[in-house]
Amino acid sequence: MTPPTELPVKPDARAYVLGGNASTLAFTSNLVPENRQVTAWLVPLAWTPIGVVLGENWQRVGVAADNLAGWTDQTFDPSDERSFVSSLRELDLLARIGWSAAVPSVLTEEVVVNADDLSDDVLDAFAHPPEQLTQCAICRRTCVRDHFVWNERRLCAWDYHATVFGKRGPWRDAPYEERLWETIPHAAYVAGPLLDDVAVDAVLAIDGLDDELAHKLLNEAIAGDPGNAHLAVRTAGGYTLLRERPTEQTTTGDGPSAGETR
Ligand SMILES: [Zn+2]
Repeated sequence: MTPPTELPVKPDARAYVLGGNASTLAFTSNLVPENRQVTAWLVPLAWTPIGVVLGENWQRVGVAADNLAGWTDQTFDPSDERSFVSSLRELDLLARIGWSAAVPSVLTEEVVVNADDLSDDVLDAFAHPPEQLTQCAICRRTCVRDHFVWNERRLCAWDYHATVFGKRGPWRDAPYEERLWETIPHAAYVAGPLLDDVAVDAVLAIDGLDDELAHKLLNEAIAGDPGNAHLAVRTAGGYTLLRERPTEQTTTGDGPSAGETR
């Protein structure tokens, strides 16, 4: 396992993406066999509510040169809904001409020679820097290591939203006392679409204000809205204030919240 960052930046670096699935993307930069093998690189992937994120630690695997297509088909089993396999005919042509390039240090759209084979979700991932990935402590799906940590457990966005913003989350029915600000959940972001599943609304988002003013505004919003449970979340850019939907509405689905009374 060679961390890609240790490789020198090579202007002629190229990657041919072989295929991918929900957790991995495979590419090769050299189709000239060595000891009848070619090298494929496995890049970890995480699917998150804000898009696909590439992982930092690539794994190098040797694949029998005469079975690269078979290996790709087997590795990216079509029963995985996110699995895809690139054009193997093109791969065959490249192998015949002995295509080879330097291994890129980072995957970007510029270095990928077959971007046409990739979905927009995967292409978008190339625009962002890679992150450290890990497995969610609850569902084992690949997630970004430091985005959602709760009680020292690293979770995917889905399990974090369900756990921390669910019924047993640290909800309050009164403004926060000063000492409590240290204890509020800290998440990279709050994903709006995931709040519907736990019947929660984001009622206030604060970005870029200093803490003292932000705390004051959050507490004013809580104090001015008695009878509802609130939960303040520290995010990468500031704070988000969540409010539980009244329970009688959860049975009727997601209709407009009756009477945004003012
Ligand atoms: Zn999970």
